[in-house]
Amino acid sequence: MKKKAAVIGAGIGGLASACILAKEGWDVKVFDNNRKAGGRCNIMEAQGFVYDMGPSWYLMPDIFEKFFALLNERVDDHLGLVKLSPSYRVFFKGGRQADFYSDLARDAQTADSLEPGAGQRLREYLKMAAYQYNIAMGKFVWRNYDSPLDFFNWRMLSQGVKLSVFSRMQDYVGRFFKSPEMQKVAQYTLVFLGSSPYNTPAFYNIMSHVDLDMGVFYPQGGLYKIVEALEKIAARSGAQFHYNSAVSRILTYGSLADGIELAAGDKVPADVVISNADIYHTETDLIKEQRLRSYSRRYWRTRVVAPSGLVLYLGVKDKIPSLAHHNLLFSADWGKNFSDIFDEPRWPRDPSFYVCCPSKTDPAVAPRGKENLFVFVPIPAGLEYGPGELSAYTDRILHMMEKEMNIPSLRSRLQVKHHFCVKDFVSRYHSFRGSALGLAHTLGQTAMFRPANRSRKIRNLFYAGGNTLPGIGVPMCLISADLACRRILSGTYRSMAQP
Ligand SMILES: Cc1cc2nc3c(=O)[nH]c(=O)nc-3n(C[C@H](O)[C@H](O)[C@H](O)COP(=O)(O)OP(=O)(O)OC[C@H]3O[C@@H](n4cnc5c(N)ncnc54)[C@H](O)[C@@H]3O)c2cc1C
Repeated sequence: MKKKAAVIGAGIGGLASACILAKEGWDVKVFDNNRKAGGRCNIMEAQGFVYDMGPSWYLMPDIFEKFFALLNERVDDHLGLVKLSPSYRVFFKGGRQADFYSDLARDAQTADSLEPGAGQRLREYLKMAAYQYNIAMGKFVWRNYDSPLDFFNWRMLSQGVKLSVFSRMQDYVGRFFKSPEMQKVAQYTLVFLGSSPYNTPAFYNIMSHVDLDMGVFYPQGGLYKIVEALEKIAARSGAQFHYNSAVSRILTYGSLADGIELAAGDKVPADVVISNADIYHTETDLIKEQRLRSYSRRYWRTRVVAPSGLVLYLGVKDKIPSLAHHNLLFSADWGKNFSDIFDEPRWPRDPSFYVCCPSKTDPAVAPRGKENLFVFVPIPAGLEYGPGELSAYTDRILHMMEKEMNIPSLRSRLQVKHHFCVKDFVSRYHSFRGSALGLAHTLGQTAMFRPANRSRKIRNLFYAGGNTLPGIGVPMCLISADLACRRILSGTYRSMAQP
């Protein structure tokens, strides 16, 4: 008899878990409340424009290679990757802009143009980031934690000091760069982690190694190609997918899960349940008995949640010469922007935001001669608003794009304009406080301090996805599936090769 796994959620962590378990010979059934796979990594079409609804940066290609190899597959057989050049363009308020190429010689010159002498310091910064990346991946990120001693021991603490775990990103970056421009270039990657430089450990400067050394890639057709590939691989090994199938509870017997119940009423027996759904939702809505919940109400009240986002999907009637594929507009007052998101939640008064224009690289995502734009403006999780505020803020962002990113008359050139905001993250993905990304990567929510990937109370309930180990982002969610499956399959499992 095959062992049975019920997976709640077909996000990246759920799909990746299904791939591994189905390949290992398990009978795997995946249930998602939405009408297709992908979770936040989803796709939307309107008038010939094809939008990646969530992720648009393909980073850490090494992790994808390892994950596909684990499944005896090759990335190249599934994804047509292009290395972007430039990797991204930054716009500073007031008209200054710069391109970064993930090419050290070229990027050092750009750094010098932004801050005299910063080129050499960028080399030193990235050398350190590369060194720390290898320690972080090997010792902290890519591992399960079973006891506090796994973290609080001399070896780990001394590695932690080498990683600058105990200093703040803002202070660390300030040791290398003095100009606000270069500090922003070194820190913007924290947005990938849903964090602020003022509350994030400095070792997340490893993200600069990820974008400025390893490079930024794009799979032709969009990031949804990753989802299609994972779904296909899992289905080939026999995994079954059920969409429009919300799970309403995890069925338990004593301290064991013995299946799930769907909102439609069907019961599905299972030897193991893996929840890829938001952990807060799983713990508070799907586990009905308080005594079986791993975390208290107080625990959730004190979590630092990553920002939500105002996401705009725009179709433009003609071309926009001023944009590259990835574009970032940095606010003048960085501190105020982060404070408006994390400390005194409000619509950010001086927002930084990101604009993706994938039609620069991929003709398939927009009708000929037109441009596809995805805009992501980080805003506070849990922000309350009415339709009037949403539309006024959207207009303000479009005005800023016209002025600061040199896109004249953008508003009158729009053919498609859709938005997705806090309430949509809740209704579509059951996201805690409508966060776009999940729990932020503060020190208190990193490594062994992040929600564990195994329930403390229900022995055969596991978690995979951005809210558990190791954290946010598509590559991290692939690792999360590997880590959960290490627990489920223990001795028999040949895990992903670690650095
Ligand atoms: C706007 C945006 C931009 C991003 N940009 C990037 C990027 O450029 N690069 C990158 O690497 N990452 C990016 N990310 C982060 C990345 O998308 C996520 O970290 C990752 O996709 C999360 O995957 P997950 O495994 O946690 O599952 P999720 O995406 O959270 O999916 C979980 C699934 O479970 C379903 N579910 C929930 N409750 C139930 C239930 N009761 N029953 C059934 N199903 C349920 C949900 O509807 C969802 O489909 C971005 C995210 C967003 C939102």
